Amino acid sequence: MIFVVPSVSSSTAGPSTNLLPHPSHRQESHFVSFIKMTRCLKFTGKLSQSDPQTSPVRIIGQLRNLNKISYDDVKMKLEPVVTAEMYATALASLRPAPTDTCPLWLNMASVAALPTQCSRHNTPSRAHALTKLIKGCLTGRKEFIVMVCERRDVLASACAIARALPEYNCKASCSNSFSRSVTVEFILVGPDCENPLSSSDLDCLHTITSGVRLSARVVDTPCSEMHTDAFVDEIAKVGVELNIVPVVIRGQELAERGFGGIYNVGKAASHPPALVILSHRPEGATYNICWVGKGIVYDTGGLCIKSKATMLGMKRDCGGAAAVLGAFYATVKLGFNENLHAIFCLAENAVSPDALRPDDIISLYSGRTVEINNTDAEGRLVLSDGVAYAQKDLKADIVIDIATLTGAQGVATGRFHAGIVTNNESWETACLKAGRVSGDLVHAMPYTPELHFGEFSSALADMKNSVADRSNAQVSCAGLFIASSLGFDFSGVWLHIDMAFPVYSGERATGYGVSLLATLFGEGSTNSLLQYVAPPLVENPMDIEENEVKKIRLV
Ligand SMILES: [Zn+2]
Repeated sequence: MIFVVPSVSSSTAGPSTNLLPHPSHRQESHFVSFIKMTRCLKFTGKLSQSDPQTSPVRIIGQLRNLNKISYDDVKMKLEPVVTAEMYATALASLRPAPTDTCPLWLNMASVAALPTQCSRHNTPSRAHALTKLIKGCLTGRKEFIVMVCERRDVLASACAIARALPEYNCKASCSNSFSRSVTVEFILVGPDCENPLSSSDLDCLHTITSGVRLSARVVDTPCSEMHTDAFVDEIAKVGVELNIVPVVIRGQELAERGFGGIYNVGKAASHPPALVILSHRPEGATYNICWVGKGIVYDTGGLCIKSKATMLGMKRDCGGAAAVLGAFYATVKLGFNENLHAIFCLAENAVSPDALRPDDIISLYSGRTVEINNTDAEGRLVLSDGVAYAQKDLKADIVIDIATLTGAQGVATGRFHAGIVTNNESWETACLKAGRVSGDLVHAMPYTPELHFGEFSSALADMKNSVADRSNAQVSCAGLFIASSLGFDFSGVWLHIDMAFPVYSGERATGYGVSLLATLFGEGSTNSLLQYVAPPLVENPMDIEENEVKKIRLV
């Protein structure tokens, strides 16, 4: 992997305090124990024999790809009821606008075409249309999907299918459907299709889609179950899986150690706020990479309370931390060559007599002071402590923060593309490419602190936490607030991802960000498929002139 980062003295992180979750903070509040039913999702690189009369099958691909395979390639999924003539007639009848599906045998076998159109800011995998198609055709039995695509689209396609199979479910009617499973069988066409997917490729798909589904489950789970203590437990479970003991700083200890952002945002809730860190430190690593996630498990807005309409769905305000959890699990599990730290900023923005007030002035972990002018602009406060911890305690060279941060993100880049803000053009380019490859799309916002940071000016403190003018690049401004804790002279890479709208689609979480982060850092992975799809981090001459960029080849 080539990381292009400005020249800084490479240093290793110092020892961290290792505090286990405090049992006294646990509260058992489950009155009803629901049986959580999920569909098992499997991937294979070749087709198995099955009969559509007992095992439903969907053959899906772009029309030009479906036309590259023959009946003989898929007959083992269709015989004896679907003949070559029926298959050819169905294929010839497809007119995707944007998608089209033709039944092959009752509702047990069908062939479906993904959209033909794909403009330059879309993912070539047509991931969003694929999720929609899958959601519409699942029967709830043991079923098969035959995915016909190019090798470069395999990962995005697998993640798109995973999004259609959410894990969180409280429907009483699901309690006895133990035998559900979906098996995705890939047929590769186009470049590099000579060899089928290897076991390492399949491992990549299984691991990353597990991360996507984990992330979506955490986001879908209401705050009555996924409070800060439960989130800490989820992180600890991933830690056990990866043989990593998390560092947990929570409750009053946050205040004592100077984490004024996380502490003050979360102090009104019955479940205490927490800063949790998972660290992967492989031998020979030279760089410290920190992923910082916003984990507001519920956002009432605080004393600047949201309305009954805008509060709905605020269980999803932990989408950034959930993305970091799923992505860290997948990236480490698949082998990663550099130091990677996942930093979770967990708090519930609640209302009580102890709540943070407008007009209060607080001190962040960076030492900067903030005059609160909007308690609903809390995400930037917790993330500021997270990135400052990355810099001060972990000596980060690369800091990525990811958050459901602003409503303005939806206005600026919409429901499909997250907005990104970064101090480094090479990383911006790489992130745009990683978005198209992974299906987690992004679009760049301006990085100009000298023009925008004045929005936070305060007569009393270093800054306020909400902008003066809401019509002045709010996505960039919110990102800059976080970057100010690193300092605008930070010599490493800072990349901010605002995913407020892509975090969900309809009534479900998407697991957005897992595939994006895993792909963006894919060149540092030992996994062959991640290396194949990862965007090269191309050097940018502008950066070299300005910052004496040093290029480091990893692996
Ligand atoms: Zn808020």
